[in-house]
Amino acid sequence: MNHDRIKNCVANLTLNPRASVFRHNGGFYLFDPATRTYASMNEPMLAFITNPDDTNLFDEISNNECKKIEDVVNHLYRIGILISPESADKIDMCSEFESHSLTTQLVLFVTTKCNLQCTYCYAHGGDSEKTISRDIWRLAMDYFFSPLNLGTAQKMAKVKNVNLTLHGGGEPTVEFAILKEIVADFQERANSEGLQSSISIGTNGTYNDSIYQWIIENNINVNISLDGTRDVQNRLRPYRSGQPSYDIVVHNLKGLVKTGRHVAFRATITDETVETMNETVELAKELGIATVHFEPVTLSGRRATTGLARPDAEQFAEKFLQCFLLGLKHDITVKWSGLRCFEHSNQQFCGACGQNFCVTPDGNITTCYEVLESNDPAAGIFFIGNVDLIHGRVVWDQSRIEKLKQRITENIYACKGCFLRYQCAGDCPIKSFRYSKRDLYSPDPYRCQISDRINKQLIAWLADGLIFPRDVEQASIISLNHHII
Ligand code: SF4
Ligand code: SF4
Repeated sequence: MNHDRIKNCVANLTLNPRASVFRHNGGFYLFDPATRTYASMNEPMLAFITNPDDTNLFDEISNNECKKIEDVVNHLYRIGILISPESADKIDMCSEFESHSLTTQLVLFVTTKCNLQCTYCYAHGGDSEKTISRDIWRLAMDYFFSPLNLGTAQKMAKVKNVNLTLHGGGEPTVEFAILKEIVADFQERANSEGLQSSISIGTNGTYNDSIYQWIIENNINVNISLDGTRDVQNRLRPYRSGQPSYDIVVHNLKGLVKTGRHVAFRATITDETVETMNETVELAKELGIATVHFEPVTLSGRRATTGLARPDAEQFAEKFLQCFLLGLKHDITVKWSGLRCFEHSNQQFCGACGQNFCVTPDGNITTCYEVLESNDPAAGIFFIGNVDLIHGRVVWDQSRIEKLKQRITENIYACKGCFLRYQCAGDCPIKSFRYSKRDLYSPDPYRCQISDRINKQLIAWLADGLIFPRDVEQASIISLNHHII
């Protein structure tokens, strides 16, 4: 009886193309990016999930198992993982994505000056001395708060919060007087519009006590770079004078922790430091840090002259996974930019695909944090406008914006069939560009290799019930280990 019911129930069902099944370390897994479903299963169940209308599979199984499978089928149908074949070609992931077309964040690259001389600096920080002028940042802010931008955003999306991010290409805090002026102006404008404002700063963490006080008084979110233990930090991130930077950075991290904040730092990893990643997580525990963000060194900038190399992809992935587990043990979130399997689905990797509004010290508007100079070959792609001081306005290059916005999962041939395509969405566009010598649509295979290893392992651990990180609340974790033959 149950056999007939289940045969009727599954006849004409198919796996939604947005979902993936894969084998990993001898196990079988189902991953659905839209509902964030992570399921483990045995091989017969895999055969069923990938070919559910093969009703012969049910002939040999017990009534009891039939009932369980019927429940599974109903659940997978309800959440859209199993669908009728007629709707398979109508599946439109785009409808599941949020719109990112409104700009509620303004990013200012304050200066190229820097007190450190990091051995891999992507921006050659400190080698030049350009600081954003008052005319440029004020005009950018005029536009940001104008009806053309926020007015529209407010009407369309009931915007209540705006963010100002102060970033590098240099160290923003070396221009403290200018920082204070920028932040005060932004807060005042937001206030007068009835908007909540938040301020963030990316810093090397070497600031003095008066800057620390200002950070606390203004409730500024701080992202600090610290590459790991004393030796590593001092070797990779010395002052321009050659002096070590570890003590002051750790002093400032401790100061932030003392205030009860959620404090994070970012560690850049080279082939020489990959083996020290565990020690970095232990150090984070000792300091009371909540999040450690690891990132392999980028191929651009000063690294070309200092000869530092990226860590081996496999080795980085293995170390990262160890650190992830260590982080769970110590209640520390361990991140990497390509760890996407716990996130909601997205059509684009990041705001560099036409959304970001970042102003360089020269008054160019870039969407990418790594493209700041007009002589960078990537400027022809990522510079989407400029602050025109002569005519007192912001000028946009609409065709470049449109081109960047086209870089969505569906248009990236290299990602077709990848289990992570609706979260990773072609990975970092500037890394594609630099790897492939100017093609935005050719992801860097180095990063894909890391992504594949890390994301599949984490999906498997989660589906097998071995981990339960914070980020997966409200996700669906199911076991489909039913024996159907
Ligand atoms: S990485 Fe940051 S702190 Fe280091 S030299 Fe470059 S801009 Fe300065
Ligand atoms: S192929 Fe690479 S870039 Fe594309 S989605 Fe997969 S991991 Fe990301």
